[in-house]
Amino acid sequence: MAPGVAVAVLSLAAMPADGETVRADAARPVLRFVWFDPSQVAAGSELLARAETATLLARMGATVSWRRGTSGEAVGNDGVRVILVGEGPPVSGVPVLGTTRKGHSAAPVVWVRVPNVRAAIGISRSRPPLALPPVELHLLGVALGRVIAHEIVHAVIPSVSHGTGLMSESLSYHQLTAASIPVDRELALALQAALRDDRGVAPSGSAVLAAKARAQQQER
Ligand SMILES: [Zn+2]
Repeated sequence: MAPGVAVAVLSLAAMPADGETVRADAARPVLRFVWFDPSQVAAGSELLARAETATLLARMGATVSWRRGTSGEAVGNDGVRVILVGEGPPVSGVPVLGTTRKGHSAAPVVWVRVPNVRAAIGISRSRPPLALPPVELHLLGVALGRVIAHEIVHAVIPSVSHGTGLMSESLSYHQLTAASIPVDRELALALQAALRDDRGVAPSGSAVLAAKARAQQQER
């Protein structure tokens, strides 16, 4: 699918007939996230990743606040912890980009496997993050932000099924690198409903959900 097609779909999906972005009725819900990158595996892409996540959630009607976690800080219930980690084991032979666990007693945790995201968008895993050229840091930041947003939807709406665009089961090279990624309007409404009911980041059993790379679509 050409990038232009994806943008057109996005416009239809995210913009109601009156032309306004989907938004909450009253107070705009705020989702709080804590960024943990203990080994600096995403150094240089943090702000871009946070911004892409915020942009995607804003299109679903939610405001995002980020703070940076410090190593050794106690696990609190003050937001979804987003932890940037290494490649980890594949699932069914496919590299995992991100995983969500909704814990029993604390806020949900999202892990993002940065080397696998790099590989999915054609960036060598061996180069230190801060040695990447600016264009690759930018691509990586956007891709990380999309994987984070995907996992956060799982965390906030445990019942959500995979679908299209942002919630595709496998985020392809194209979806991770295109100028924009489609967000389904129904998904936005479901997210707002979940946040209104304050079920958004409440512990609700435990599950592990993964966004997998679609290796055959690494076209670069
Ligand atoms: Zn998923």
